[in-house]
Amino acid sequence: MKKERGDLSIIRWSIQTRKQEKRNRLLKRTPNYKKYAIQGNCIKKIYLFYSLRQKESMEKYPRYSHAYFMQKAIQLAQQAAEEGEVPIGAVVVAEGKKIIGKGYNQTEKLQDVTAHAEIIALSAASQYLGGKYLQNCTMYITLEPCTMCAGALGWSQISRIVYGAAELKKGFSQFKPRILHPKTEIITGILAEECQQILRAFFQDKRK
Ligand SMILES: [Zn+2]
Repeated sequence: MKKERGDLSIIRWSIQTRKQEKRNRLLKRTPNYKKYAIQGNCIKKIYLFYSLRQKESMEKYPRYSHAYFMQKAIQLAQQAAEEGEVPIGAVVVAEGKKIIGKGYNQTEKLQDVTAHAEIIALSAASQYLGGKYLQNCTMYITLEPCTMCAGALGWSQISRIVYGAAELKKGFSQFKPRILHPKTEIITGILAEECQQILRAFFQDKRK
């Protein structure tokens, strides 16, 4: 088709070209551009993705690292402290990437001694998966689990447990270190100081 000046089609064509150029520029700047390019012309999505990437890079710990998820658990512990609960938080992560369960201590609010962070996060994760076994899942907890929670984690056959601070009085390793599933891997001491600090501050405040 011959394009003449003043023709509507030529205006439309130039707008299209400019849009295309803008999109290409954005795609080049976005590291995961191929994934988005397949989905077609979703400039908004690319914008959103790009700003999210920027936000993440500003975070302290690399994404998907143990410290990254422990920080999420610490945030939950802080929430518990704000609500007057002993500050302990837990998250369950599937395939090392997606958080599928969150929990923080709510024994006071619910007046229930079993409402520990781990139990709440476990229930949430099982509900999300629609199954009771948490294979390929990791639980991040700010404090070493007690024997009750370790027992529940043992039943869930969870693949890995990562905890921050050690619990020298009620921690499961003091009583029943073999209560967990034999295949469960344990990693300790991730951001231990930060995890301990929240507890220390909470009890210091209470004593006042
Ligand atoms: Zn517990």
